[in-house]
Parts: sequence; structure tokens; C-alpha cells
Amino acid sequence: MIKKITKFRGIAFAAVIVILFSACGVKNKSADENSLKVGFDVDDTLLFSTPAFQKGFESSEKPFSGEFWAVVNNSDRGNSKIKKKVLQILEKHRVDGDEIYAITARKPNGGEGLKNYLNDALGIPKSNIYFESEGKTNRLQQLGIDIFYGDSDSDISDANAAGIKAYRIERSTASSYQKKYNPGKYGEKVIKNSDW
Ligand SMILES: [Mg+2]
Repeated sequence: MIKKITKFRGIAFAAVIVILFSACGVKNKSADENSLKVGFDVDDTLLFSTPAFQKGFESSEKPFSGEFWAVVNNSDRGNSKIKKKVLQILEKHRVDGDEIYAITARKPNGGEGLKNYLNDALGIPKSNIYFESEGKTNRLQQLGIDIFYGDSDSDISDANAAGIKAYRIERSTASSYQKKYNPGKYGEKVIKNSDW
């Protein structure tokens, strides 16, 4: 009886995993297939980071100056929130043996703060975190990223330009950033309910 229950639990667990992967549009891979390289945007994708940006705007630094970015890049800890839906997606990829990258459009000033935070909070290797304020296409190609997740139109168009699969992460309605946001604009799949 116990054996039967255990077996049933095992089957049910496997079924749930398969359903979750299908729901995310991630193909199941056979064990001998190579793992994927998966990239995530940071702001409004991995993190609800409006509070970190507010710290920047509240500081005496000129908005979007190097000093401003240094404040923002050191304000995620204790302020930004990890988006649970995206964390689930990241964890599924990790379980599947995929390599996780973060590629942000933030400027790199004070970037060690963001790298340390993403490493501590999400286990992303610091060497897999990149600052690309001039566009992400080249970096996506250079790293050989297979799938990219992002909230902004440019995340999707940059991934399209790199010839890779892109998924749109829904931006929180509480985000202070309203620009470049037209989910489904490129026919990409939109991942809903991705508030934190
Ligand atoms: Mg973003």
C-alpha cells in the first residue's frame, strides 16, 4: 500500500513537472541533450526594482549619471523584490541543468553591488551578469544564449535580432517604468501574473 502511494506520488510529481514545463513553453529535453543557456533581463523581469530606482532619484545625483547608477546598483538589497513567477521559471531551468545569465540595460557604475545581490539572492554566478546599456543583441549572440526573458520591447526585439527565443515577462502595474512596453508586439509569448 505504502509502495503504491509512493509510486503514485512519483508519477504525480513527474506529471506536474511536465505540465509546468509545457506551461512555460520550455521543451522537455532528453538526458543526453546539451543544457540550454538562459538569459534574464533584471529590471521588471527578475526584480521589481522600482524601489532601487527611487533611491537613485531621491539621492542628490543627477538622474542617469554614473553616480546615479552607482546608487541604483547598490540599492536592490533590502528594497527590490524578487518576482516570484520569474523565480519559478529560473528554478525550473536550473533543475533542468540550464546555465543562468542576467543581462541588464543598467550602466555598470557600482555594478558589483547588483552582481553581489543577484548572486546572493538568486545564485546567478557573478561572471554571468552583464551590463549592456547599448543593446543586448551582441552579448546574447556572443554568449550563445538560447532563450531570453524580458519585459521591455527592446528585450524581445534584441532577442529576435539575435535569432533566439524570447518570452515577455509581464511588468508589474506598480512599476515606475512605463515606456517600451507592448506585450505581444512581436508575436512573442507573454508570461502573465508576473507581479512579485
Ligand atoms: Mg526590464
